Amino acid sequence: MTQLTIKNLLSQYTPLLHHEIKISGWVRAFRSNRFIALNDGSTLENLQIVVDFEKFDADTLSKISTAASLEIVGELVESAGAGQKIELVAKEIHILGDNFTEDRDKTILQPKKHSLETLREQAHLRFRTNLFGAVFRIRSAVSFAIHQFFNENGFVYINTPIITGADAEGAGEMFGVSALNLENLPKTENGEVDYSQDFFGKKTNLTVSGQLEAECAAMGLGKVYTFGPTFRAENSNTTRHLAEFWMVEPEVAFNNLDQNIDLAEDFLQYVIEYVLKNCEKDLAFLNDRQAEEQKQKPKEERLELNLIDKLKQVTEGRFVRLSYTEAIDILKNSNPNKKGKFQYPIEEWGADLQSEHERYLVEKHFKKPVVIFDYPKEIKAFYMKLNEDGKTVAAMDVLFPGIGEIIGGSQREDSYSILLEKMKAGNISEEELWWYLDLRKFGSVPHAGFGLGLERLVLFVTGMTNIRDVIPFPRTPRNAEF
Ligand code: ATP
Ligand code: MN
Repeated sequence: MTQLTIKNLLSQYTPLLHHEIKISGWVRAFRSNRFIALNDGSTLENLQIVVDFEKFDADTLSKISTAASLEIVGELVESAGAGQKIELVAKEIHILGDNFTEDRDKTILQPKKHSLETLREQAHLRFRTNLFGAVFRIRSAVSFAIHQFFNENGFVYINTPIITGADAEGAGEMFGVSALNLENLPKTENGEVDYSQDFFGKKTNLTVSGQLEAECAAMGLGKVYTFGPTFRAENSNTTRHLAEFWMVEPEVAFNNLDQNIDLAEDFLQYVIEYVLKNCEKDLAFLNDRQAEEQKQKPKEERLELNLIDKLKQVTEGRFVRLSYTEAIDILKNSNPNKKGKFQYPIEEWGADLQSEHERYLVEKHFKKPVVIFDYPKEIKAFYMKLNEDGKTVAAMDVLFPGIGEIIGGSQREDSYSILLEKMKAGNISEEELWWYLDLRKFGSVPHAGFGLGLERLVLFVTGMTNIRDVIPFPRTPRNAEF
């Protein structure tokens, strides 16, 4: 028989009323030696267990304390108390795991409020808190909705390699993968590491993107997407970057840049709508938590919309679309630029947009999601399609309030000669990417795709502010605990 969960029970309890049921979970609180708030992780809500202390021995009662795990058999009844519809009158209480009380008191399981930093140091236990329960249930719902969106739209799910032989994807610093003995590296005659003796007979890395391989798949299967771990050894200690994160990368044959932007917009709206519909309790909890936090802040720093309204706003309107050139004009004439408030002042066309600029456009100027397209070729990757003007490429970034870049994508260069030229100009080895060039030799077609960082979307949807708090075990510079 499958385990009954508190979520199942609360959603369909009528047929079980006055029946005996068995339920397991962890104690969240034990009030007045009489009421246990039991949580099993299936939902934010607790089940109230009523304990008649005369029916249980002192040893059992003494072991019921916050964090202990219990299995309870009892009768389900309607609750007379306010705050819950049903409760379980305990007949049997089995202590599955009691507490090492002294040790527990040094952990986040001790019943008081803890900072997010402290919770992060005990990432193995933070799943037990209301906050992280909500965040990780929502993360799971987001992942599910992503698969469902692509499945409903006829995409084929592709797994691209985690260990890659291509060193030139251009998306960021890479982690090497090697089976060589680091203490005793084989060297070539001119003193370089001899990777020909390594496991794969060449230098290999952890992938920074599955895009190039996804393009191969799209050139046969039409619409594909990847969804997997991605690694970047960039030493950027920000609230938006992880060294290991999960990336979703659709790639579509015959799509141009406009269709690529349409796809990104439909996709984001679908996933956010799914969460609004299916994660009501967890979202309401996060919404209230954020509202509480906002109260502590000075008025001028407070958010204009609460979490749920912010999500609804994104699903309702269309995103703003503007070219890089238009964006530069707006930024150049903006107040912060004129008053020298930008750390990187915008002086002329060609400047790379920094996160401060992206956030100005999204949060101050348009106050909604913005898609910027047609960037100068010099600041974008070699594989992006050169536009007819000869100086911009068909790139697009989707910028979200509070996040900045959430998606980066482009129409890909499908001309063999132009791609070859750009690779040469960018010092990208033809020998290494021969297979990528091959795609442009046999039945090349226009195609486009993008990359979404799962954690950035989960940040947006949960209203959390540090990316380390939306992945179970974050990997960041100088941190790989657990
Ligand atoms: P950024 O400029 O924010 O560092 P990027 O331009 O390097 O990002 P892309 O190469 O375009 O990122 O990757 C596609 C998407 O992957 C980004 O839009 C973002 O959502 C996500 N992403 C990129 N790098 C990271 C990272 N280090 N941690 C988490 N998510 C990331
Ligand atoms: Mn990008």
